[in-house]
Amino acid sequence: MTKKSIVWIREDFRIEENEALAYATQNHEFVSALYIYNSKNFDKKREAQKWWLSKSLENFNLDLKKLNIPLEIQSGDELEVLSSIKKKDDVTIYWSKVYEPDVINKGKKIRDLFIKNEIPYKYFKGNILVEFQDMTKDDGTPYKVFTPFWKKTEQKYISKTTIKNLKVKTKEKKVNIFKKSISTKEILPKNNWHKKFEKYWKPSELEAKKYLEELIKNKIKDYGETRDIPGVSGTSQLSPFLKFGQIHVETIWEKCQDIKIKKLGYRKYINELGWREFSHSLINYFPQMLKGNLNKNFDNFPWVKNEKFLKKWKKGMTGYPIVDAGMRELYETGWMHNRVRMIVASFLVKHLRIHWIEGEKHFRNCLVDFNEASNVAQWQWVAGCGADAAPYFRIFNPILQGEKFDKKGTYTKKWVPELKNIPDKFLYKPWELEKKYQEQLKIIVGIDYPEPIVDHVKARNAALSAFKRIKKISF
Ligand SMILES: Cc1cc2nc3c(=O)[nH]c(=O)nc-3n(C[C@H](O)[C@H](O)[C@H](O)COP(=O)(O)OP(=O)(O)OC[C@H]3O[C@@H](n4cnc5c(N)ncnc54)[C@H](O)[C@@H]3O)c2cc1C
Repeated sequence: MTKKSIVWIREDFRIEENEALAYATQNHEFVSALYIYNSKNFDKKREAQKWWLSKSLENFNLDLKKLNIPLEIQSGDELEVLSSIKKKDDVTIYWSKVYEPDVINKGKKIRDLFIKNEIPYKYFKGNILVEFQDMTKDDGTPYKVFTPFWKKTEQKYISKTTIKNLKVKTKEKKVNIFKKSISTKEILPKNNWHKKFEKYWKPSELEAKKYLEELIKNKIKDYGETRDIPGVSGTSQLSPFLKFGQIHVETIWEKCQDIKIKKLGYRKYINELGWREFSHSLINYFPQMLKGNLNKNFDNFPWVKNEKFLKKWKKGMTGYPIVDAGMRELYETGWMHNRVRMIVASFLVKHLRIHWIEGEKHFRNCLVDFNEASNVAQWQWVAGCGADAAPYFRIFNPILQGEKFDKKGTYTKKWVPELKNIPDKFLYKPWELEKKYQEQLKIIVGIDYPEPIVDHVKARNAALSAFKRIKKISF
C-alpha cells in the first residue's frame, strides 16, 4: 500500500456516502483531494455550471480542511494532468464513476495510462442506484420503456447485498501532491450573469442536506399534486446538488424509506429518481442519441431554422406568458420548474418547430443542474423522438397549461412582472383584452409586452402537418 493517495473528485463534492474518500482515508497516511478543471468541457457550453462548480470547490475545501485533507485544483486535460504522476510519487488514485459515454471513454485511457506508469488505482460506484451495465431485460437487451425498466431496477436496488464502509477518517497531517493550485475564481464565467445565482443557491453538502430535510418534512406528502404547480415550491430542488454529488441518490432514497406512511407523494417522488436512472441507461446504451434523434424516423422531420424566434424564446419574449416566465426563471436562477420545462420545450419544438438540439444546447449552458443524460433524454421525450416519448401530435396549449397549472398567476406574474395587473381571465392571452383596458392598465400588448410570435392554432396545425411528413414511427 502506498503512503499517499489522491481522491480524484469529479461529481462527488461530499464527505458523506463517499466510498472513494472513505476508502482512501482508511488506508493511507496522507490523502489529497484533486479536482481537474478542463475548461473545454465548460467554455460556452456550461457557463451556469462554472458558477456552481467554483462555489462547490470553495465550500468543499472548507469541509475537507476539517479532515486535514488538502483540495488541489489543477487545470488542463485530465490525461495530461494525471500523466504527471509517477511511480516514484508513491501514490494510489481513487475515484467514483460518472455515467456519461465520453467520460467513460476517457476513463479507459486513464486506466491504461496508470497501468503503463505502474500507478495503483481503484474506482467505485458513482451517484446512481443501480449501474446501467447491471440493468438489461432478461434477453440482455437494454430497456426502451420506463415502467418495466424502473420496476426491475427498483427491485434490484432493494435486494442489494453489499455493505459499504463509509467512515471518513480525519488525517493527522496534510500533504500536497501538486506544486500549485488554480484559484476557484478562475473558473467563474467571464461575464457577471452568474452573480444573481448567489441569491438563490448555496452549493454545499450542508445545503443539500437541508433541502432533503425540507423535502421529507414538508414536501413529499403532497408531492403528487404540488410537483406540477410552479407557483408552489413543491419539488425538492435537489437536482444541481445531485449533479455535483453534494448528495448521493442513495442518501435520498434511504431518507425516503424512513417515511412511515408512504403515500402517493412518496411513490411519485421515487419514480422521478427512476427517470434519472433511466436516462443514464439510455445515453449509455444508445450514445448516438447525444447527437441526434433516437428515433431515426425523425431525421426527416422538416425543422425550421429561425434565429429571430429562437432568440425571442431564449429571452422570454414569445408573447406567451407561461413560456416567457419559464425562460426568465431559467436566466435569472439557473433552474426551471419541471412542468414549465416541458411547456417551453414543447413550444420550441412544436409551435416554432425549431430543432430540439437548439433547446438542449441552451438548457445545457444555462442550467445549474444540467445533466447530459436527463437533458438529452427529456428534450427527445418532449420532441417525440426519444424513448417512451410523448407523442409528437400531443401538443401543449400554452394558454391552457398556464390556466391549469398556474391558475392565480403566482409564478407567471413573478417572472413576467409587467403582467401583474392583467385580470386572471386574460393573463395567458393578454392580446385578447380590449385595447382600452390595456391602456387603462398601462400594459399595451405589442409595446409593454410582446404580441404572440405565432398564432397557437396555426402553429399547432403546421406542426401536425409537418409531423405527417415523417415516416411511420417504429422505434
Ligand atoms: C426539456 C427538459 C430538460 C431537462 N433537463 C434536465 C437536466 O439537464 N438535468 C436534470 O437534472 N433534470 C432535467 N430535467 C428533468 C427535470 O425537469 C428536473 O430534474 C427537475 O425539474 C429538477 O427539479 P427538482 O430537483 O426539484 O426535481 P424533483 O421533482 O424534486 O425530483 C427529484 C429528482 O429526480 C430527478 N428527476 C425529476 N424529474 C426528472 C425527469 N423528468 N428526468 C430525469 N430526472 C428527473 C432529478 O434528479 C430531481 O432532482 C429536464 C426536463 C425537461 C422537460
